[in-house]
Amino acid sequence: MAIIGFIGLGNMGAPMAANLVKAGHQVRGFDLSATACEAARGSGIMIAESAGDAASTADVVITMLPAGKHVRAVYTDPAGLMAHVGRDALVIDCSTIDVESARAAHEIAATKGIRSLDAPVSGGVGGATAGTLTFMVGADADAFAKGQPILACMGKKIVHCGGAGAGQSAKICNNMILGVSMIAVSEAFVLAEKLGLSHQAMFDVVSTASGQCWSLTSYCPVPGPVPASPANSDYKPGFAAELMSKDLTLSQQAAQACGVDTALGRHAAQLYEAFNAAGHAGLDFSAIVQDVRARSGA
Ligand code: NAD
Repeated sequence: MAIIGFIGLGNMGAPMAANLVKAGHQVRGFDLSATACEAARGSGIMIAESAGDAASTADVVITMLPAGKHVRAVYTDPAGLMAHVGRDALVIDCSTIDVESARAAHEIAATKGIRSLDAPVSGGVGGATAGTLTFMVGADADAFAKGQPILACMGKKIVHCGGAGAGQSAKICNNMILGVSMIAVSEAFVLAEKLGLSHQAMFDVVSTASGQCWSLTSYCPVPGPVPASPANSDYKPGFAAELMSKDLTLSQQAAQACGVDTALGRHAAQLYEAFNAAGHAGLDFSAIVQDVRARSGA
């Protein structure tokens, strides 16, 4: 049994922390939102008074926060996580953040002699609740070995991607593929509609042909062929369009920093930004099919 500090008890953090409790660990959680803290208490999570308080007696401290600026704030607060965490503890950031902030978080930990992981996740709220997340980890081998059994309480696949920041790098590359492929599948369905094909005929062919991909077979953007896809429940997320936009922006920042011309990634980021600005940020990202239809007079 480990003592685990868990900072950020939102949509993802709360069920992840609950799975750590179920695995027999003692979890001391903290969130700026009193509502989130109260909800987490119901899952057996003890509530700390501050991030520093959650970290003070912990063997492992996990952060699950919205963006890089929140992670940096929690790491650099003079009375926060790093001021209180013990030298033998392991710190793990599971948020999806920019690679630069992830590397900065590792550096802050390293200057204090503390081992750290960047370990963003794939699998959404469903995967967080079921304990079936995929973790993409950036860390040295020693830190990875220490964190692996803790991550295994919350996920089913844990990939060591490389050193500091490698987990975030893998995450934003994956989500760039996802954003681009969802738009491609959506455009193909709208074209198929105009050509007189049924959704089911289109799905039956493409799901076993060379256009097959996750955006089609798991998250089909039209209702019918994949009963569990958000298209069947009025595009309730799922994975919200605003989060897709955030991840595409992160991948564009990284592409610019590395001088890589990601033309389709750039266009996908622009399309999602416009979709969100039009008031659809809260819909599942597969609702982009509606935008394709609107731009096609369909
Ligand atoms: P969320 O907004 O539901 O939760 C974030 C929580 O962090 C909030 O409860 C907020 O109050 C808390 N918080 C912010 N600043 C804080 C601070 N300084 N101290 C303590 N608590 C603080 O977001 P989420 O959906 O749980 O996502 C968390 C991260 O996981 C994001 O980086 C997101 O991109 C990533 N992610 C989300 C999904 C998903 O499907 N929701 C999937 C994969 C990855």
